[in-house]
Amino acid sequence: MSRPTAIVIGAGIVGLAMARALSLRGMQVTVLEQHTRAVGASIRNFGMVWPIGVPNGVLYERALRSRAAWLQLVEGAGLWHDVSGSLHVAHADDEWDVLCQYHEANRTRRPLHLLSAAQAQAMSPALVGEGLRGGLLGDDELVVDPRQAMARIPAYLESHGVRFLWNMPVTAVETGRVWSGSRCFDAERVYVCNGAQFEQLFPELHAAAPLTRCKLQMLRLAAPAPGFRLGPALCGGLSLLHYAGFAEAADLAPLRARCDREHADLLAAGIHVMVSQNGAGEIAVGDSHHYAHTHDPFDEHAINQRILDYLARFARFPSQRIVQTWHGIYPRLTDGSSEWVVEALPGVTLVNAVGGGGLGMTLALGLAEDIVAGRLTPRSVPPPT
Ligand SMILES: Cc1cc2nc3c(=O)[nH]c(=O)nc-3n(C[C@H](O)[C@H](O)[C@H](O)COP(=O)(O)OP(=O)(O)OC[C@H]3O[C@@H](n4cnc5c(N)ncnc54)[C@H](O)[C@@H]3O)c2cc1C
Repeated sequence: MSRPTAIVIGAGIVGLAMARALSLRGMQVTVLEQHTRAVGASIRNFGMVWPIGVPNGVLYERALRSRAAWLQLVEGAGLWHDVSGSLHVAHADDEWDVLCQYHEANRTRRPLHLLSAAQAQAMSPALVGEGLRGGLLGDDELVVDPRQAMARIPAYLESHGVRFLWNMPVTAVETGRVWSGSRCFDAERVYVCNGAQFEQLFPELHAAAPLTRCKLQMLRLAAPAPGFRLGPALCGGLSLLHYAGFAEAADLAPLRARCDREHADLLAAGIHVMVSQNGAGEIAVGDSHHYAHTHDPFDEHAINQRILDYLARFARFPSQRIVQTWHGIYPRLTDGSSEWVVEALPGVTLVNAVGGGGLGMTLALGLAEDIVAGRLTPRSVPPPT
């Protein structure tokens, strides 16, 4: 008996997650990617699998399912990873208050540890001790190397029967059929995972969609010293204003008021600072957030400098040499919802803007399992008039 067939458009983490979940369900899957390798948002991120970035409930459960899927993938595909955990550090009383409230609200639901300043400092040689009030250590978080992952996961899925067609830009989609110029491919189900190029397919539908684009700048530092290990992935106080889980559990007003006074320039550029380390010892630092339909293609040196200046408030390295800077763009939902999963046509599902846009590494693998298992019902859109 022939297996049911599916086409996935896009080989970023969302497309790979869909291909994996469909293949695990016994479907015969073909992935069509416009480039010779995926060079979108998924290769440009920190590689942080970050359950602490999502609120409790469905999203936290999905993040944990994603984490489990990542652990299975790193094993199967031979990916470098570090079950590093996360360390949010407080260098001000209002930051410490938020960490304490978050810990109190979540300590029975999540693996969290409130650390004294001395305990926090023992976790990472990079931490600035001066003014350190303490830290919140989370055990859920892990780090992969996105550049290695985006290269190896396709090879791993191929070894499990998924077919990849690279350099194959999809130009049109209809029920049961996908076109790349004059070439056509048939499948019973089609999943469109085209990331920031969302409106190139179904432009009318996307013209009315609650989507914009977020541009983020980040950078990479050379390994600070031979054998130097960061410890947990680190976050400074501004990250407490960025992720929804903290607003859910703590009163952010005092922290926000102080940041409005002291860091208006950082808030205007959407900067909060996180740090992770890869297997080669290099340090990823970011990031800024700008929202617009169409972005300048240029990176602002001043933004990178602000990121580094804020970094120096909570983490410093024996040497700090910038080896790369770049930006990434992802679609951002403007209606506060947590994914763009839409039945565009019978049998054609759009899967995009995971975690509102900025949490694809954290949520895509679990989201794909939820979609394939029918645990998430796609939005339906009104037919064009
Ligand atoms: C700087 C930065 C840091 C981030 N850090 C993190 C993090 O640490 N943790 C986390 O959870 N999330 C993070 N994110 C968010 C995460 O990277 C995204 O949510 C995720 O990568 C989106 O994946 P995607 O597959 O939708 O998009 P993409 O990776 O952009 O993939 C879309 C793919 O579709 C292809 N495509 C588009 N149109 C077509 C077409 N017509 N035909 C064929 N192929 C097509 C593209 O070429 C591309 O390869 C970060 C994002 C950025 C930019």
